[in-house]
Amino acid sequence: MILDGKGLAARRLELLKEDIIEGGLSPTLATVIVGDDPASHMYVRMKHRACEQVGISSVNISLPEDTTTRTILERIRQLNEDPDIDGILVQLPLPKSIDTEAVLAAILPEKDVDGFHPLNMGRLVTGLPGPRPCTPKGIMTLLHENKISIGGKRAVVVGRSVDVGRPIALLLLHADATVTMCHSKTENLKEITEQADILVSAAGKAGIITADMVKPGATVIDVGTNQVNGKLCGDVAFDEVEKIAGAITPVPGGVGPMTIASLMENTADIARNRCGHFM
Ligand code: NAP
Repeated sequence: MILDGKGLAARRLELLKEDIIEGGLSPTLATVIVGDDPASHMYVRMKHRACEQVGISSVNISLPEDTTTRTILERIRQLNEDPDIDGILVQLPLPKSIDTEAVLAAILPEKDVDGFHPLNMGRLVTGLPGPRPCTPKGIMTLLHENKISIGGKRAVVVGRSVDVGRPIALLLLHADATVTMCHSKTENLKEITEQADILVSAAGKAGIITADMVKPGATVIDVGTNQVNGKLCGDVAFDEVEKIAGAITPVPGGVGPMTIASLMENTADIARNRCGHFM
């Protein structure tokens, strides 16, 4: 089974658009981007297009590469205090000269659409409600909507980043999977991945997951977005793994669209629950 993230994301955006109209909501998302990285600018444009599609207003603050941490913190303070702004997203990665942790911690937790604020990360660890990081949230939606059972299954996550690897491992754990996390220092990766009923790869290394590393019938979620000879591809050697996996996400068209749909859902949730509780 091909896990069609593109199709599912489109359906969820349609439903969200109706929810926003029926709920009389008028959410606004602010994005902050620093520098000229073309890929980051493309991602921000895609996010604004999705906002337009579902009826979320959006503003973009684009700052030059040499912006100081202090200036970014000041812009975030203004967005925090602006009653018209529901959600704030800082496009990552920031230039190396910027203190990323300070910037993420400066966003009001109540406006933190990416769920990267330390308080919201703590909520994720403890299982309290809160905005969940968008890529892991999108993956969980994709699994649930395709009726892939998680409870009691062995899940292996390759990659331990704060934005993808760690949060998806925690969400799978909260859903009662038995979770193993791997990273660049993991020895005998294949011995671990081949035990996975659900294998999530978020290493950012093209073709790192080959067919011999995958248990027949496993669900394979490919988060990787790698450019090889000008072509977008994932971490998984799709053509060979597709033959033995039970379900697999394509790249493009798998996890990426679900990430954007989750961002829209988080923004609408924040607008809906502005003075209340998260869903
Ligand atoms: P990251 O911060 O670079 O983290 C990569 C992780 O993979 C690290 O934990 C690293 O281990 C591990 N790793 C690297 N090489 C490995 C290897 N050979 N074997 C095992 N583990 C290895 O990247 P990220 O932000 O998590 O993103 C991962 C990938 O997902 C990238 O391609 C990114 O573009 C993509 N992505 C896609 C979406 C989407 O919506 N589709 C969203 C976010 C990210 P160490 O910790 O030991 O260094």
